[in-house]
Amino acid sequence: MSTPFSSPQQILRDVFGYTAFRGAQQQIVEHLTGGGDALVLMPTGGGKSLCYQIPSLLRPGVGIVVSPLIALMQDQVDALRQLGVPAAFLNSSLDADSAREVSRQLLRGELKLLYVAPERLMTEGFLNLLERLQQEAGIALFAIDEAHCVSQWGHDFRPEYRALTVLHERFPAVPRVALTATADAPTRREIVERLALEQASQFVSSFDRPNIRYRVTLKNNARQQLQAFLETEHPSDAGIVYCLSRKKVEETAVWLTEQGWDALPYHAGLDAATRNQNQRRFLREEGVIMVATVAFGMGIDKPNVRFVAHLDLPKSMEGYYQETGRAGRDGLPANAWMAYGLGDAVSMRQMLMSGDAPEERKRVELQKLDALLGFCEATACRHQTVLRYFGEEHPGDCGQCDNCLEPVDTWDATQAAQMALSCVYRTGQRFGVAHLIDVLLGKATPKIEQFNHQQLSTFGIGKELAQQQWSGVYRQLVAAGLLNVDMEAYGGLKLTEAARPVLRGEQAVWLRRDAAPARRQGSKAERGSRLREAFAGANEDPLWQALKGKRLELAKEQGVPPYVIFHDSTLLEILNRKPQTLDEMAQISGVGQAKLTRYGEEFLRAVAAVAKGTDAG
Ligand code: ADP
Ligand code: ZN
Repeated sequence: MSTPFSSPQQILRDVFGYTAFRGAQQQIVEHLTGGGDALVLMPTGGGKSLCYQIPSLLRPGVGIVVSPLIALMQDQVDALRQLGVPAAFLNSSLDADSAREVSRQLLRGELKLLYVAPERLMTEGFLNLLERLQQEAGIALFAIDEAHCVSQWGHDFRPEYRALTVLHERFPAVPRVALTATADAPTRREIVERLALEQASQFVSSFDRPNIRYRVTLKNNARQQLQAFLETEHPSDAGIVYCLSRKKVEETAVWLTEQGWDALPYHAGLDAATRNQNQRRFLREEGVIMVATVAFGMGIDKPNVRFVAHLDLPKSMEGYYQETGRAGRDGLPANAWMAYGLGDAVSMRQMLMSGDAPEERKRVELQKLDALLGFCEATACRHQTVLRYFGEEHPGDCGQCDNCLEPVDTWDATQAAQMALSCVYRTGQRFGVAHLIDVLLGKATPKIEQFNHQQLSTFGIGKELAQQQWSGVYRQLVAAGLLNVDMEAYGGLKLTEAARPVLRGEQAVWLRRDAAPARRQGSKAERGSRLREAFAGANEDPLWQALKGKRLELAKEQGVPPYVIFHDSTLLEILNRKPQTLDEMAQISGVGQAKLTRYGEEFLRAVAAVAKGTDAG
């Protein structure tokens, strides 16, 4: 197919309906269009797809996109077809006839983009097909998506990815681009080495997600806190609630449903049919809440996930960043909310230490957990804390995370920490926090009687602080690694080396002052206002409902997710600008030529009908 396009800007405007490139997109597009190889590191939602889609349209021949996410190929291809771009996919979900038809279209030059699973790509049959393609329609480029799958240290290792160097060997003249949202330097080095990209230009974007508001709430009654969060900030939004265990996923989904939320469970223990159906509903309907273990989310690119809530701790900062990163891919405000408490810090340590992983692996996992706990207890800007972990500087003061909005007090807790630690020591390093606090407060409980703990020097020395405050002290001492869980003593706490200098009075301890639960509750509503501002009264606006209704109707007719028709951001712009002509409609971001032709009139009618006060019907 000859290409009717002259420049990247023209394609951006006419096909995608966007006015400006984001970040490094333009440089990347120009580099690839000119025939160079590239490694692209961009956060989720950064706009990686355009980086290979536009060069595929500009260069002669077909862009071949390698992706491990079979379940998503259909949506990606649907989205391209909506834009008027001829695209197809080849993977194990196609029957033989359909696959043959795709091959024929390919050789006839009827496609501009082809998505293919790596195991299919590596077959001799497909490689031969590519060779014929090169001689006939031509190959515009190879895009290797989710390139971190070559790394065996990563979370999604795919052995077939290792064999992808064959592309370079057999088609040396075709430009290649590898893309990933995994930021760390070792993975990056491995991608370069394994895919033979030493000569490729590297485009590394900032991994900041400025539209995500990070928040860590002190857990007291997690379900009620979640409920309050949903009611004040996300009464009708799609989002993900992460839990650690399958059981908790099930229970939480049932509970949310009982409370009237449209919630579905997802975990690896459900049969494939149920999992697929729940995932499909999450993608295709509006306002569904997915309650899930980490088994859910890889490659979910629903752009309008408005919140990610954690009822349990993720295992690492990498996990936290990745899971929360599924919120707000469309760039509109989104929330990352986590409820966290002493019990989480203790039980996560316990879980990691009791697993049957080799010692070395456990040590690494504990270090990763420590970094995460440090993040939870941090008093600095959350964006700064997250990015620093990934080796990137951020000026702080984002003005929207919990710590920036309500700066956290710290207090000199040296003496309290000494009391707390020596109470652990005097009781024999085998009790849990509840008992330790009883001893400090000098309570007369049966357990204290039984062990004769009223005789201890630490008995009753902590009356100046309340139960809640001691709990905060212990939580932070566990989080900071001064206390560890003793597996031989049924999860009792014991001192670590790091506790010594504190006990000896050589090191001061400053802790964050936990806000009283009541104060936190009160300010929550305020903090949600930014999200409401973005959708400024949209939910009450009849036009908003009409636009969403029209979108859902069109999506259902065609069997595609609503966001494939238009993103929320596009609908919002229609809502705010109320276009009256096709020309005005064409100015809206996300309305390219194909969508203008297909949907322009219908949405104009909806706008006009609501303006006249009649039903858009
Ligand atoms: P990634 O694959 O990096 O997570 P996508 O390629 O899916 O991100 O892009 C994220 C969202 O941003 C998509 O909805 C896409 O249409 C939109 N987008 C990408 N580039 C631009 C741009 N230059 N202007 C406006 N929207 C864009
Ligand atoms: Zn901040």
